[in-house]
Parts: sequence; structure tokens; C-alpha cells
Amino acid sequence: MLIKDGIRMDGRKPDELRPIKIEAGVLHRAQGSCYLEWGGNKVMAAVYGPREAIPRHIQHPLKAVINARYNMVPFSVSDRKRPGPDRRSVEISKVTSEALEHVVFTGLFPRTMIDVCIEVLGAEAGTRCAGLTAAAVALADAGIPMRDLPVACAAGKIDGTVVLDLAGDEDCEGEADMPIAIAPRTEEILLMQMDGHMTYQEFEEALELALKGCREVSKLQKEALLRKYETKNEVAP
Ligand code: ADP
Repeated sequence: MLIKDGIRMDGRKPDELRPIKIEAGVLHRAQGSCYLEWGGNKVMAAVYGPREAIPRHIQHPLKAVINARYNMVPFSVSDRKRPGPDRRSVEISKVTSEALEHVVFTGLFPRTMIDVCIEVLGAEAGTRCAGLTAAAVALADAGIPMRDLPVACAAGKIDGTVVLDLAGDEDCEGEADMPIAIAPRTEEILLMQMDGHMTYQEFEEALELALKGCREVSKLQKEALLRKYETKNEVAP
């Protein structure tokens, strides 16, 4: 049983997020970076570029290529994960790159590439949302011009109830999981995927919940960037 008397196994209400911590600019060697904890997920994102796209055949004459690479380290899951890319990480890298491409002003940097490295250090469901959310903060920290700060969050269905932000067992044993990413100012959808089944009415309810989650996470992203860049008014002695 995943939900009892309206309370989930980890004590959350159906519309509640797991605790989230975001820190911008944690790596000194990368142009931009972000460390994010979202429940049991621990994610590091680093941004390099824009720099000349190599090999040259991947260059686009009119815009920068966004190259997001999602990777789960072997110790991120309970059974050691085989290192290196697999079908799942290639898919997540692709959808993340496409979502970010819609917000970055790529036209300003023709023939270049912007590398976005997403390393999942600990995984507990919802890592693609955590990764994309951290990548957005790392891009902003790198000073890459964007028309909005993208953010992601999932909603889904467990034991017949539509819930926000599925955690470990809820993701494995629940009926549906739907991660979305949006550009929060316009709430334009940048990514939408779904595992499992929901009725149309449940889908609408889940979408509304996921949007609410995105709005909450978006605030935390902005706070993290403000914390990094706020200038303290120092009073002269
Ligand atoms: P997301 O992490 O975005 O929810 P999935 O739904 O594919 O993506 O994965 C759900 C969860 O399953 C992951 O967050 C992780 O905890 C677990 N998982 C994924 N891949 C593996 C793996 N190779 N070994 C063990 N657990 C995994």
C-alpha cells in the first residue's frame, strides 16, 4: 500500500514535494555549476562553453549545439550500476538537450557547443527532473543567455490517487509517472514523458499538480542563484 488515509509512505500529502536543496556555483573549474538534492536524489551539473564545436561536422553555422550528457555513477543505485552510457541515459541526455535548446539563445553563438554534464550521484526516482533543474541553474551560473530558467517536476498516480513528485517505491510500484519540464514565465512545456496509464481526467489533474511543483522548484532555483550572486552591503569600519 503506497498511500493510506491520504498520507504517503514517506509522510507526504499527495500534493507535496520532497525536500529540495539547491546550491549554485559549487565547482571552480567549470564555467557554471549546481549541486542539487531532491529527496534521495543527489545531482551535480556542470556547464562548459560556448566553445568551438568539435568534431567540426557537429557545428551548426547559425547556432550553438547544446550537448547535455546525463550519467548515473555506479554507486548511485543499490545494485552497482555498470559504468558508461546505456539506452536510458542516452534517451535522458537527448530529451534534456532538446528541452534546454528551447530556452538558450543558441543563435548568439554559431558553430559552438555548450556542454552540460549531469552526474547523478544518488538516485531515488525523478532523476531526469532533478538533472534538468540543476542543469538550468548551472547554465545561468555560467552566464549563458536564456529566455527563461527551465524547471522540471513529475506527477503521477499511485493506488488510484494522483500525486506530486513520486519517490522510490511509488515510481516502481505506482500506476503512472509523468515528468514535465517548463519555461516557467510562459508555462510552455519543454518536456513531457509518461510511464504507465492515466485517464484523461487524471492526466489533467497530474499536469496541474506537476505545474504547481514546477512553480515551487522554480522559486528555489532563483533563490539559489540570488544567494550566489547577492552583493552584501558592507559597512565601512
Ligand atoms: P527517473 O530517475 O527520471 O525517474 P526512471 O523512471 O527511468 O527515471 O528511473 C526511476 C528510478 O529507477 C531512478 O531514479 C533510479 O532510482 C532507478 N534506476 C534507474 N536506473 C537504474 C539502474 N540501472 N539500476 C538501479 N536502479 C535504477
